[in-house]
Amino acid sequence: MNFEILTLFPDMLAGFLNASVIGRATEKGLISVRLTDIRDYTLDKHRKVDDTPYGGGYGMVMTCQPALDCIRAVKARLTGSVRTIYLSPQGKVFSHSKAVQLAGYDNLILFCGHYEGVDERIIELGIDEEISIGDYVLTGGELPAAVVTDCVSRLIDGVLPDKQCYEEESIASGLLEYPQYTKPRIFEGLEVPEVLIGGHHANIEKWRKARSLERTATKRPDLLNLLNKDD
Ligand code: SAM
Repeated sequence: MNFEILTLFPDMLAGFLNASVIGRATEKGLISVRLTDIRDYTLDKHRKVDDTPYGGGYGMVMTCQPALDCIRAVKARLTGSVRTIYLSPQGKVFSHSKAVQLAGYDNLILFCGHYEGVDERIIELGIDEEISIGDYVLTGGELPAAVVTDCVSRLIDGVLPDKQCYEEESIASGLLEYPQYTKPRIFEGLEVPEVLIGGHHANIEKWRKARSLERTATKRPDLLNLLNKDD
């Protein structure tokens, strides 16, 4: 799977892309992530990519020409299916099920806005879908693009050691995950539950399922309502 991140600030993402699971997946060729600087596409002699809003108001708005030329140039070099996404607080809020859907594309183009946002015609002419990562406003789309890249990458075969890694996790399973423990067995007086020590797999499974239901009911009862709706 290939991710194309279009941004005015590629340096913001370089560290994240080279590290940990995403860095290893790229090294193994399971995913590829390319950063494109939108500013490289401006025809303005001062390399401008934004301008003041018509009608007045605070801040600057990203202009059509560099943004659309950049999207079109990136699209032109891709093969296979492509979904072009504008990361925006006005989009539908990102979720596990949206990540599963996006993992079905060969290429995702993730367009990052900045400043006060983008000229509306960029969305009309170049974007398939807007995605928000939550009901709050950030300074730019770079962190949201990193969130989408990270979340979708985990679903690609081979990126995690086993499908179970994400299928049994919080949210994807429909419930929150059970509590986890590692060594030492006692830390500051708090002991690891006895059932996890004995190696009795059926009992461990039973305990985990019960804790999972219990903490979902306490922390995210809305998830249980969703499960019941599916029944
Ligand atoms: N003026 C815009 C509005 O009210 O809808 C917000 C612009 S925001 C300051 C700048 C950029 O950050 C946006 O163009 C978008 O790309 C990104 N952004 C901000 N919050 C976001 C969120 N919750 N999810 C996804 N992208 C976000």
